Amino acid sequence: MFDKVLIANRGEIALRVLRACKELDIKTVAVHSTADKDAMHVKLADESVCIGPPPARDSYLNIPAIVAACEITGATAVHPGYGFLSENQRFAEILEAHGITFIGPSPEHIRIMGDKIEAKRTAKRLGIPVVPGSEGAIDDDETAKRVAAEVGFPVLIKAAAGGGGRGMKVARTPDELGNALSTARAEARAAFGNDAVYIERYLAAPRHIEIQVLGDGRGGAIHLGERDCSLQRRHQKVWEEAGSPVITPQERDRIGGVVADAMREIKYAGAGTVEFLYENGEFFFIEMNTRLQVEHPVTEMITGIDLVNEQIKVAAGDGLSLTQSQVTWSGHAIECRVNAENPSTFRPSPGKISYFHPPGGLGVRVDSAIYQGYSIPPYYDSLGAKLIVHGKTRAECLNRLRRSLDEFVVDGIETTLPLFRALVRNKDILAGDYTIHWLEQHLNKGGLEGI
Ligand code: ADP
Repeated sequence: MFDKVLIANRGEIALRVLRACKELDIKTVAVHSTADKDAMHVKLADESVCIGPPPARDSYLNIPAIVAACEITGATAVHPGYGFLSENQRFAEILEAHGITFIGPSPEHIRIMGDKIEAKRTAKRLGIPVVPGSEGAIDDDETAKRVAAEVGFPVLIKAAAGGGGRGMKVARTPDELGNALSTARAEARAAFGNDAVYIERYLAAPRHIEIQVLGDGRGGAIHLGERDCSLQRRHQKVWEEAGSPVITPQERDRIGGVVADAMREIKYAGAGTVEFLYENGEFFFIEMNTRLQVEHPVTEMITGIDLVNEQIKVAAGDGLSLTQSQVTWSGHAIECRVNAENPSTFRPSPGKISYFHPPGGLGVRVDSAIYQGYSIPPYYDSLGAKLIVHGKTRAECLNRLRRSLDEFVVDGIETTLPLFRALVRNKDILAGDYTIHWLEQHLNKGGLEGI
């Protein structure tokens, strides 16, 4: 096992990793920008190193500074969290070249899954069902027209290097295709420096269902079931559930089995998530994330498995601590992303927190790095806290979530708490009856009043 791990991240996820390290008796090193000198992860780590000025490219994305911080402190492994360098193949390679363990999959798996076209091709080869669409990148409008006609309108143009919902455009008719292609390409070029795009059938009313996997890197892998992340705005998740209100245990076993088999075949190491759209009883692969995800706690709550602990054990060469038959699911969990944002426009609302009172009690978990008197800096993403609630049934979970949201106080900044207070009282949400478009359709009707 490692003696000392450096956590190359900030905010709640840096704390999440820190907690797992402490429970494994591993010393921790925090890195931080000058804007984060008072951040919670810095206060709680055994040691900390300032790695640069506020902009992420100069600090949390600054590979030489992070490698130097490892050398100065003697950390022999790095946990990247999510975002920042967590899916950066070069970072994983550079650490390896310096004899430092990257707590995550191999650079090759990061590369394959980071290119969405190659990821889709790989998924198909491994027997994972994919969304019908182009075989590879589309270079010219003529090919686009032919492929779109074969796939059938509406179609979705997606960036090969995509992420965060950027570089995605719908074409509802052949007339819209030319415009959609050039806008998607321009957006992809600006966001990712790569304008390769591909075409997929646009699914009208799917749910977003994803499967959590853990691989030991030696050909062993297990799945931990599904999460339902259909409540999204601008293709970003706001509320996640485990299990999905619409997936049966048989469906879970079947799709989970397909994904675990695929991970065994490629000898995947560590935690990963295979994302699907689900419509009319069918699963369609959209992408794989080769890292821990924001919403991982809902899976932890219903399986009792500490995902970060497993990631660290695999990276240290100790393998997984359990087999598929030891994985059981109990009850239901929901996560709400309490962002420092206006609850209906989602405009960021950084600033000083004048009062902070998180909820508590049985089945309530708050993963957060904010505290009373803390100032949320304007430089990073706006996730302030994750409220995760577990209940024996979905109904109990929703009741517990409602009272937890009513207890939760964050003053001084705007947060998305009012959005969740409305959602947890809505009849469609209570019935589990929503698709990936539900939230935007309701917000478009008149903000929070539309829910
Ligand atoms: P990103 O990497 O940018 O997050 P994804 O491929 O994961 O992109 O897709 C993000 C979201 O976009 C999905 O959760 C879904 O809401 C929507 N989406 C993606 N592909 C399709 C599709 N073929 N049809 C309909 N919606 C889609």
